[in-house]
Amino acid sequence: MSVYKNLKTFPVGGIHPEDHKLSAAKAIEFLKIPDIISIPVSQHLGAPAKPIVQINDRVKVGQVIAESGGYVSTNIHASASGIVSKIDNVMDASGYKRLAITIKVEGDDWFEGIELSPDIKKEIILSKEEIIAKLQKDGIVGLGGATFPIHVKLTPPKGKIADILLINGVECEPFLTSDHRLMIEKGEEILIGTQIIMQALGVSESLVGIESNKPDAIEHLSKLAKNYNGICIVPLKVQYPQGAEKQLIEALTSRQVPIGGLPIDVGVVVQNVGTAFAVYESIQKNKPLVERVVTVTGKNVQNPSNFLVRFGVPISNLIEAAGGLPNETGKIISGGPMMGKALNTPDVPVTKGTSGILLISEAESKRGEVLNCIRCAKCVGHCPLGLEPYLLMSLVEKGFYDQAQQEQILNCCECGSCAFTCPADRPLLDYIRLGKSIINQRLREKSPK
Ligand code: SF4
Ligand code: SF4
Repeated sequence: MSVYKNLKTFPVGGIHPEDHKLSAAKAIEFLKIPDIISIPVSQHLGAPAKPIVQINDRVKVGQVIAESGGYVSTNIHASASGIVSKIDNVMDASGYKRLAITIKVEGDDWFEGIELSPDIKKEIILSKEEIIAKLQKDGIVGLGGATFPIHVKLTPPKGKIADILLINGVECEPFLTSDHRLMIEKGEEILIGTQIIMQALGVSESLVGIESNKPDAIEHLSKLAKNYNGICIVPLKVQYPQGAEKQLIEALTSRQVPIGGLPIDVGVVVQNVGTAFAVYESIQKNKPLVERVVTVTGKNVQNPSNFLVRFGVPISNLIEAAGGLPNETGKIISGGPMMGKALNTPDVPVTKGTSGILLISEAESKRGEVLNCIRCAKCVGHCPLGLEPYLLMSLVEKGFYDQAQQEQILNCCECGSCAFTCPADRPLLDYIRLGKSIINQRLREKSPK
């Protein structure tokens, strides 16, 4: 039973999947860098970065190897030192081949000026503008999954003002523990990163939301936060999908983001704890984003773990380090069981958006027989956005995309709560994702170039 009283949460829908946090007590371990790594130039939302190195160039860790391809884009840095051996298309987690820079690894030489000592640096000396420019240069993106370049979020459009920063320490996806471990092991750095983001936004208040199933993280950060003005740790009721932006905003502030709107419309900016840590490293240590914590887990995984992994390392190496691929693995999922996506092969690189690798058995991955909808409305009752998933699926099935758009299909955050609760095993999320991608494609084609 939770020791916390009157916990906040979001008011509509949501579910309680079992959390299976098998690796929660496993300290973060550095994963050995293999002899070859392939670093995709598109690891973020927005335009791919443009390679600026040539084959046979020697590079150091943290050196820019591809430059931002536009405003909504970001630099990509070498995550290992060595020789550029290929600039070619490589399959990534999406299953598509995309441009990547392959490095034949030699040693671990870092670019000059990057500070690797664990000493904590509290004093923030850069101005708001300097912070935003530095984060852009260092390739910092949202590490909660969206990989949205941070400099864009920290520069609200004209007329919009942020008055509060929310830090997402919810990690509501079952199995994943990378954010939890980071809060335990890098709490001070996360709070300094939070202060840096507050300074960049010009806000004086920040709330860090953590679900009550992580009492050690709540206690640790609450103690540390006493030394940081304006930062408050808020324990939240366990409720999926509380880590989704709109649900977290409502849980913490009772503000509702309008349909089709953005958090900044209600004066809020949300960042993840992993992003706050990356911000600390960029501003206080001059360290670009070249690595992240990735959970490798699953009920049959021999040694569920949290690894600190350089971008470009093949996912197969992480699986090997966690004890190897269990017999009868049915699916390898990038992310958690609710919002993650199945991989075609584990021979794809870890990127900025890789939060976890989940291995599930053939038996677990088998879907039940799809039955007719019995109009029970469970999918409606559990949808945190008040949508009608059974209707959206039916409209997409029939190709009625305009009607699906009118029914707010684009507002769906793809949390999967509807499919999770459907007694008829209807593939609601698959159809909703299909419908969204078709409608988004049509909108792109219609929009002026
Ligand atoms: S319709 Fe979308 S937002 Fe609603 S429960 Fe299903 S996946 Fe989640
Ligand atoms: S939960 Fe499944 S069976 Fe019930 S209304 Fe929704 S789609 Fe139909």
